[in-house]
Amino acid sequence: MTTASKILSSVHNPTDADKHLIEKAFTYAEKAHAGHKRYSGEPYMSHVAQVAYMLAQMGMGPRTIAAGLLHDTIEDTPVTSEDIRKEFGEEILFLVEGVTKLSSVRYYGADRHNESLRKLFVATSQDIRVLIIKLVDRLHNMQTLEFIPQEKQLRIARETLEIYVPVAHRLGMGRIRKELEDLAFPYVYPDEYKKVSDLLEQKIGKAKETIEKERKTLQKKLAEAGLTDFKTSYRVKGLYSLFHKLKRKEWNIDAVYDLLAMRIVVNSVEDCYRAMGIVHDLWRPMPQRMKDYINLPKPNGYQSIHTTVITNTGTILEIQIRTEKMHHEAEYGVASHIIYKADTIPGGKSSSSWFANLIPTLFRPFAWRAQQKQIHAEDLDRTKDIPPNQKIPHWIQQIGEMYTQEKASGEEFVQDMQKDFFSNRIFVFTPNGDVVDLPVAATPIDFAYAIHSEVGDHIAGVKVNNKQVQLDTELHNGDIVYIETKKNAHPTPKWLPMAKTSLAKRRIRSALANQKDTT
Ligand code: MN
Repeated sequence: MTTASKILSSVHNPTDADKHLIEKAFTYAEKAHAGHKRYSGEPYMSHVAQVAYMLAQMGMGPRTIAAGLLHDTIEDTPVTSEDIRKEFGEEILFLVEGVTKLSSVRYYGADRHNESLRKLFVATSQDIRVLIIKLVDRLHNMQTLEFIPQEKQLRIARETLEIYVPVAHRLGMGRIRKELEDLAFPYVYPDEYKKVSDLLEQKIGKAKETIEKERKTLQKKLAEAGLTDFKTSYRVKGLYSLFHKLKRKEWNIDAVYDLLAMRIVVNSVEDCYRAMGIVHDLWRPMPQRMKDYINLPKPNGYQSIHTTVITNTGTILEIQIRTEKMHHEAEYGVASHIIYKADTIPGGKSSSSWFANLIPTLFRPFAWRAQQKQIHAEDLDRTKDIPPNQKIPHWIQQIGEMYTQEKASGEEFVQDMQKDFFSNRIFVFTPNGDVVDLPVAATPIDFAYAIHSEVGDHIAGVKVNNKQVQLDTELHNGDIVYIETKKNAHPTPKWLPMAKTSLAKRRIRSALANQKDTT
């Protein structure tokens, strides 16, 4: 079983106070869970210790690790909130209670879906650390899912794919996402899982030996060209992500070019481009397969150069080239900033660009519900003064820049970032459960224009949480807002001071001007 000293050995430079806190939480949890067993027969403590260990490995700070150790105490033992507050203080209590609240979020299929997501979203938007603990908790539960009674397995695996995987993805936590997906896949889609794994095995069963040889060839070539400090590795595409790609490609596995990917991790952005040149010199690049996610990061902040080559042995290989920093960010996402707190990795772009990319993705945590559109009035509106290659809302950039200039410790850093970020925004819902994010003090007018200008232009009445309210009512986190529209309802000049977003103000002005024109 994972011990306190094993956890401590993964904490980066712990102070005596950090060590004391983690040891204390360990002992406390051990006592609280004494006698409890998991379905696997192991002591319950093995679960929370493993969660804490994984958090430490991800680079999370001592308070998050302590909360990881205590995360099941309130729910599963006689320990009360008051006990945790007394022993560990407000902050750790806040994290433990956050995780406890999240366990009431259950996925029971389509009709309960929106409701669950809503709760999850609102409950977690308070602190990203709660979400990280919960993701790691779920990861360990998925790793041990085989021991759970069969009738529960399917629900848990489904919930993992429907709720946890998208959240991990939005937070840029690629490693957890892939593992969760591949653990849940065989439970949720057993037939497809078999089909995909058989296809993959046929296709690359032998290729693994070849690729090891190709890796040596590449290493030699990179060294000859004078690149001395680099790491190479390779990965096989995850089965669940392959499943989705195969569906798009009519199950033709020959049309999937990233089954095997070789990774080159170098020290600087310049070296990334140099390495790409060396690769293209060694192996024939496939046309139109080069993607520069360094200069054009993916929406969740992912950065790398991707290129697909055909090696001399005829193997199709995707090459992913990135810096060490980009690599950590791709693996751990939001959690990686604890590792790179000072942001001094040579050659890497300033992390403000990473934040600028991460933060807006937090607003779209459920955009994967493709059939339901989400509207982000502020995103659309505030980009107007920003150069086209940086379509990032200005206020988000400011947050990113502000924090990268400070040398806050990792944990404080994440905390402060969120405090600011979440204290300036509220999240409200349409009656269908779509999330709309608005600035604090926004009114139903802002909401209506965020939905659509036609809705804004014809507001006849507003209900918030099923109660009729005035147009200037301030909206709050979690409100469900219903706008009644009528064809003959139109904006009046009184609306202008009620609107808080520039989008709404602009639309009202233009509607007012149009009214003058037509009368
Ligand atoms: Mn747990």
